[in-house]
Amino acid sequence: MLRHIGQEGSVMIDDADRQHLQRCVDLAAQALASGNEPFGSVLVSSQGHVLFEDHNRIGGGGHTQHPEFAIARWAADKMGVQECAKATVYTSCEHSRMCAAAHG
Ligand SMILES: [Zn+2]
Repeated sequence: MLRHIGQEGSVMIDDADRQHLQRCVDLAAQALASGNEPFGSVLVSSQGHVLFEDHNRIGGGGHTQHPEFAIARWAADKMGVQECAKATVYTSCEHSRMCAAAHG
């Protein structure tokens, strides 16, 4: 599910959304502290369970090591199509075009 928060016609966020978004910000801070760019992302199941999380890891030289891309790889390996469709990705910033394509 791709929800754009904060745009006209968007859904309201609740406390669970805020908790997951705060985790993304914390992961982004971890990324920055470890020499990476400040981005973090969390994958949450339709039941509200955190399935996978990661932060940016391009500091090691791998320019595709974005957390949203890691989520797409993990989900493709571990989840069925229907489960993916019901899950939510929270991220500290709008996806890059590479990650948006991977999620598609
Ligand atoms: Zn990206």
